[in-house]
Amino acid sequence: METIIKGIPVSQGVAIGPAYVLGSVESKLPPSYLSDEEMIPGEVERFQQAVGTAQAEIEELKSRVQSEAMQDVGSIFEAHILILSDPSLHNEVLRRIQRNRMTAEYAVQCTFGEYVRGLKGKPFLNPRINDIQDIERRLLKAILGRHYEELHSLAREVVVIAHDLTPSQTAGMDRERILGFATDIGGTTGHTAIVARARELPAVVGLGSVSDTIQPGTEVILDGSRGILIIQPTESTRETYEKVRSDFHKFGAELLAEASQPAVTLDGCRVHVQGNIEFPHESESVLKNGADGIGLYRTEFIYIDNQGVPDEETHFAAYSRVVKALGGRPVTIRTLDLGSDKAFQLQDHDRLYLEKNPGLGLRAVRYCLANPDIFRAQIRAICRASAFGEVKMIIPMVSSREEVQKVMRMVRSIQERLADEGIPYDPHMKVGIMVEVPSVAITIDQFCDISEYFSIGTNDLTQYLLAVDRTNEQVAHIFRPDHPSVLRVLKYVIETAKANHVPVSLCGEMAGDPLFVLYLLGLGLRTFSVSPPQIPEVKKIIRSASLTAAEKVADDVASLSSARDVRNCLRAAAQDLLGLKI
Ligand code: PEP
Ligand code: MG
Repeated sequence: METIIKGIPVSQGVAIGPAYVLGSVESKLPPSYLSDEEMIPGEVERFQQAVGTAQAEIEELKSRVQSEAMQDVGSIFEAHILILSDPSLHNEVLRRIQRNRMTAEYAVQCTFGEYVRGLKGKPFLNPRINDIQDIERRLLKAILGRHYEELHSLAREVVVIAHDLTPSQTAGMDRERILGFATDIGGTTGHTAIVARARELPAVVGLGSVSDTIQPGTEVILDGSRGILIIQPTESTRETYEKVRSDFHKFGAELLAEASQPAVTLDGCRVHVQGNIEFPHESESVLKNGADGIGLYRTEFIYIDNQGVPDEETHFAAYSRVVKALGGRPVTIRTLDLGSDKAFQLQDHDRLYLEKNPGLGLRAVRYCLANPDIFRAQIRAICRASAFGEVKMIIPMVSSREEVQKVMRMVRSIQERLADEGIPYDPHMKVGIMVEVPSVAITIDQFCDISEYFSIGTNDLTQYLLAVDRTNEQVAHIFRPDHPSVLRVLKYVIETAKANHVPVSLCGEMAGDPLFVLYLLGLGLRTFSVSPPQIPEVKKIIRSASLTAAEKVADDVASLSSARDVRNCLRAAAQDLLGLKI
């Protein structure tokens, strides 16, 4: 019987095929001890050999993804190699073998289990759990020689179903055979989801306990755009989805073919559509999809993938690569926006994460100003990268003028220092702010003299205006960028910026949602920044619309008092003016 399960869509596309169910990472080995003390040296040897084998495997995976031009994903494996060679981890395993006479595999399981339990107590380190379990799995496989699922060498096309997947499993997936994946847990901001998008693998996460209930080999349909998994589809559902899949590919290919055409409305208004990236290698996708630059380079992953605080050279290598690749198109680099949902591990800075309410805590620019050395290294690298093209620097989570003034003073003093040192930089590099905290949005007129441009972050702006956690699936239905309060604030920010001649762009998810493109255009927005695969569609919508019609849509919506009415109005406009069924 056909069953439909709803989850969280994290990577677009349709996959149809047999389920390949991965065993739970949690499945445990029974306790096992050495019967004789003399067996200890042999057991130590087994462990050490396993470490060598695991290291060699990870090196191989790393070079494979690097040859696929996914250097940044490769840095995940670098982190794995570092964890695997951590002496304290080795000592713990060896202690268990030598003192407690555990077998190598049981000692590994106990040590990693303890490590993971420790991390679970620190929510900010949760993203690391996947990595730790991945290394444990690899070590156990090396010790036991057991067949663990190898997602990079499958014999046939499958849809992977798992409780959870690690980033390295996702990065190592055989793209020819793995059509997509579905997991019980996970969220859109996890590494696994990011890697899925980077590899254009359809994916749905947060499906509950599907990996426990589904029988291996059962036919499934995964719809990564709507976030659903259909188990045992009927013939007619299958036919429908085969068509959806082929239309998706056809539509994507058509959009891509015209992606390089400029986004000009029917009545001649030029709009800029830029890309949002997390990793330097995504600049290739940005260019392929016809972007007019990068409107948001989220730099958090430089910190997440780095063991410890990244130095200036690490920052500089990433930024200069992106700026050079963009060949003169603008690149907007956002300074560190860690905290809240963007967790990471900085040694000696754990204090940050013990906050009770991190979404409202010492995050982003607040953290940077409290840790000037970490911040200075990043700003210096951004300034240095500005010598290679048009770079803009953007400050996240600003909530007061004073913060902007402090950052500006730092930028100026860093630039003076660079000049003294004879290091090139662009003295005209623009510095702007993210408009994502309500205090800034509703007093935006007071930021026009100290910010050279504004980038509206509707993900956080919606979260803070509506007091709804953007990552909590239980309140996802209340997270509504179509809420009249959000729209009213957007209108005010865009109009005020224009009246004061401050350039304004919008880089939240809303900018890439076909439902809102006409509306935002009508409000006066002329720079959109969206995830690279969305660029061609946004450009096409703009090319198919007239500014006059878009302005009418914005006017019509202004008087509505419920999110539902707004959505219906925008849906009708998309259908009537663009022929889109949303
Ligand atoms: C936003 O808040 O809308 C935004 C673009 O930034 P992020 O999603 O990285 O918080
Ligand atoms: Mg934000």
